Amino acid sequence: MKSISPSSAQTYQICPRKYRLQHLERWRGEPSASMEVGSLVDYGVKQVWTGEKCPELYEPHHNVDEVEIIQAEAMVSGYSKNFIDDQPGTHYPDFRIEADGFEGILDCLSISQSGKKALIRELKTTGQKRELLPNSVRMQTLEMNDQLTIYSHLVRQHFPEVEEVEVSYEVIWRDSYGPKMRKQIRRKKDESEEDYAERKLGNTETLDEYRVRLMDAYETDFENRFAQVRYVPMAGREKERIHELKHVLMNMSEDDAYIRNPNACSMYGGCQYVGVCTGQERIEENFSQEQRND
Ligand code: SF4
Repeated sequence: MKSISPSSAQTYQICPRKYRLQHLERWRGEPSASMEVGSLVDYGVKQVWTGEKCPELYEPHHNVDEVEIIQAEAMVSGYSKNFIDDQPGTHYPDFRIEADGFEGILDCLSISQSGKKALIRELKTTGQKRELLPNSVRMQTLEMNDQLTIYSHLVRQHFPEVEEVEVSYEVIWRDSYGPKMRKQIRRKKDESEEDYAERKLGNTETLDEYRVRLMDAYETDFENRFAQVRYVPMAGREKERIHELKHVLMNMSEDDAYIRNPNACSMYGGCQYVGVCTGQERIEENFSQEQRND
């Protein structure tokens, strides 16, 4: 059986039918604007990891507008000022790794000069400010997170000389408010809607002003825009979870492996395949299929 990625394993546990549609048949919807901004930030931060200070990232072919590009640039710029540490070693962004029935692409793997320490960096952008909080559910359960558990297991398998694996989980909040008004104004008596809209526009920050304000906010207001948790995964707990996940993998080879789980249809803001499963949409008309490489 082919190796499985953490996101495939997670999707399978949520709904086997969704796993089949999304990961085996690769029916995908268009990426949302926030996914596109997340990809830009991901790209920019990886440039920073490889030594670029603050890269010129953003090509016009990206499907995002100028305000979203400014947001992504400010996030990367703030990251480069706040997150870079000078731990010597070799850094591998987008490190592809496969072992023991699992596979993954680590956002960044750093191996110390001695070769005995490994640091896994996992980057996430979010629109939910509460995800920065140390008492958020995600932060509280990080050490149980399957993705990070699989990654540390993969690193131990792939680099037997590594004696200590550390994880750095890094979150950037996306401030998606666009240019704001320089001062609050109200519609005047007898003012037409068009005149009011024009007056509001004239009173709104220009893109240059917006860029300066946002860059400053990301570069100086670390606590409200970024979060980082570093921990050393416990090898015993990791082994136990990997053992459990291998049972999940075994189920995936059964004949009835791709049954539906209607309890999951409304999870995470709603499943994108609801229309297909309820017979209201035809999958060929509503999704595009990615080229499969396997
Ligand atoms: S709509 Fe529900 S049953 Fe269908 S794939 Fe999604 S989660 Fe599974």
